[in-house]
Order: sequence, then structure tokens, then C-alpha cells
Amino acid sequence: MTSVVTAPDQLQKLAERAGSDLEGASAIEILTWANEHFDASWCVASSMADTLLPHLASRVRPGVDVVFLDTGYHFAETIGTRDAAEATLPITVKTIKPRQSVEQQDASFGARLYERNPDQCCALRKVNPLRQALEPYTAWASGLRRDEAVTRANVRVVEWDARRQMVKLNPIAAWTQEDVDQYSAENGVLINPLLFDGYGSVGCWPCTRRLAPGEDARAGRWAGTGKLECGLHD
Ligand code: SF4
Repeated sequence: MTSVVTAPDQLQKLAERAGSDLEGASAIEILTWANEHFDASWCVASSMADTLLPHLASRVRPGVDVVFLDTGYHFAETIGTRDAAEATLPITVKTIKPRQSVEQQDASFGARLYERNPDQCCALRKVNPLRQALEPYTAWASGLRRDEAVTRANVRVVEWDARRQMVKLNPIAAWTQEDVDQYSAENGVLINPLLFDGYGSVGCWPCTRRLAPGEDARAGRWAGTGKLECGLHD
């Protein structure tokens, strides 16, 4: 059943109702709800830290679009994980690049903008490209989990993305790291090798470091800057 709902105010109501109704539903049930309401007009955004969400989404919709932001600052392991996912899963990877290459950005704003103004760097290389990449869709799915960091503790399984005027799906919001590990082991989910090498979360190499003992999974991102999120999920 494809939804006839396209007006933003009705989509917002639909998302808010689903956020309540689908709390406690499985990730597959949440993605199936999206597939029934939005047909092909939904996608997955993946950082390729792992391929769990693309794996789940491809079970519901083989060939599903998976948006990957190629910031120009990725670890080689991340590009390799994307390539392996594309080769082995029934997904359609959409690699999105910023308007400027790293060299062009350096020429415009000076080298190492990520050190001087990471918010501007993230806006140029992540937030703006994602906004443009998502424009054709009605809904997008992310792999946010409540247990990853305090900034994500209140994420709902379906919510209204007011900034983009879209429905946002967080099908594994309630999953724990144990749930992720179990599903990944049982289903042969590809995992970025950096997660076996001391990293708790994978982003651009200039802004990601290994974790110290006892740190939460995202503590290695923008460490020491006070920045907690890239702005994709505001
Ligand atoms: Fe730039 Fe760092 Fe943001 Fe990547 S994570 S876009 S390098 S500031």
C-alpha cells in the first residue's frame, strides 16, 4: 500500500503517529512500514562503519538506494567497506561528493579547515551534500542508536525531520551493541575493519581517533573540540 500522503503537514502527522505506534516493533517491521507507505521514495544513509542497516533494508526492498557521503577524508577501510557492500548486497550505492574537492576547499578556505572550523567543514562536506542527495526522497533511514551517546538517547524509531521536511526512520534506535553484534554474526554483516582496531565509531580520518578504555563509542569523534555530532541528525 503506497501512501498518497505527500503534503508536509500530513507527512509530519504520519511520522509522529508511526513513532508511537512502531515503538517496540522490529527493525524489519519499521522498514516494511516505510516501504509500504513510500514505495521507492525512501533510502538508507550509511557511513559504512558497518553494513547492518543496508543489510536490513535490502531484505525489505532489494535494490534499495544507499546514500554514502564521500567526504574526501575517509579512511581506506571505509571506502573498502563500501565497495564490498556494493559487491555483495542487493543495494544501489549512491556515492555523493561535496561540491568542492579537498584541494578546492583548501584553496577557498585554507588548509585543514577541519581544525579551525569543523562545523563549517562538516556543513560543506556532509550536511549540504546530504540535503541535496535526499531531495528526491520522502523518507530516509539512519542507523542511529539510543545507546551510542547521550545526544542520541531520545531518538524515536520514526520521526519528522523538520529541517528537511522528510520522514526519518531510525529502525535500530532501540538496539544495543549486543543486538548489533548478534545480528551481524548471524547474518555475515560486513564491518569496517577499524572497529576491530580500537575505533568505536568511524568518520573522517582527521576527526576520528581510537577510544581510550571506558569511553563511549563516539568519544573518538572530534575529540577535545566539544563537537559531538556532524550536523546530519540535527
Ligand atoms: Fe571535515 Fe572532520 Fe567534518 Fe569530515 S568530520 S567533514 S574532516 S570536520
